[in-house]
Amino acid sequence: MSTWDREADAFLGCTAAFDDAQAVIFGAPLDATTSYRPGTRQASRVMRAESYSIETYSPYQDLDLADFAVCDSGDLDLPFGNPARALDLIEERSRAILAAGKLPLMIGGEHLVTLGAVRAAARVFPDLHMIHLDAHADLRDSYQDEKLSHATVMRRCWELLGDGRIHQFGIRSGEREEIAWAKTHVRTRFFDLEGLGDTVRQLAGRPVYLTIDLDVLDPAVFPGTGTPEAGGLSFTDLLGAIRLAGSLNIVACDLNELSPPLDPSGIATATALKTMRELLLAVLSGRTRRL
Ligand code: MN
Ligand code: MN
Repeated sequence: MSTWDREADAFLGCTAAFDDAQAVIFGAPLDATTSYRPGTRQASRVMRAESYSIETYSPYQDLDLADFAVCDSGDLDLPFGNPARALDLIEERSRAILAAGKLPLMIGGEHLVTLGAVRAAARVFPDLHMIHLDAHADLRDSYQDEKLSHATVMRRCWELLGDGRIHQFGIRSGEREEIAWAKTHVRTRFFDLEGLGDTVRQLAGRPVYLTIDLDVLDPAVFPGTGTPEAGGLSFTDLLGAIRLAGSLNIVACDLNELSPPLDPSGIATATALKTMRELLLAVLSGRTRRL
């Protein structure tokens, strides 16, 4: 962090100082448990470097990042081979941002990073719900004998939140036992986003954590990820979901599972950047409307 220069190194348009910011970005470069095809630890660094290829203005929302105060606080310095310690550090950073009344936006890393941020948010907001966009249910109790894994992350979140608080969309992969378990504990919409509008109406006014595993997108538009699953959302579908969710009281959010080395064309990184811009604009404009 000693070499971090906010003005020079930050994501495009995200150069506000922490104290002035409405939202604070940080990178969580962890890919400890994605042993098959690693690379997500490079996501935040590559996204920053490529962020000058996109505009701060969104024609979709007619909003400009330049009109909002966003701080990019850099990447966490996470230890290799110690996911429990990494989660503690993620929780600590998330807690500091929440305590200052700001929106944390975390860039993974593999999806396990979400658990650290949800721990912090659940402590501040006991009534926390989650909207979870993903190709995978991520509800296994353990994966390769590990309790802390990208494949178990939502099960660990459920242990914090309880039944009926996790709302999954776009799911198209999971073990039989995992999917059977899901039926009585979480709300799962397979394959697409149908019902998201109803969920948004039900959750109005409640604190919501939005986690976007970018592999919910179709691999055609998002090839740079460790476990691509055919039959996913289009970018326009995802944008619609983000805009719907932006009307909610989103108290924290994350984007995860971009693995830049798996897509030399750079399409996936560009898609992740555009998703990040639209997410920030949707959530921050929603916050401003509610104030
Ligand atoms: Mn996931
Ligand atoms: Mn996934």
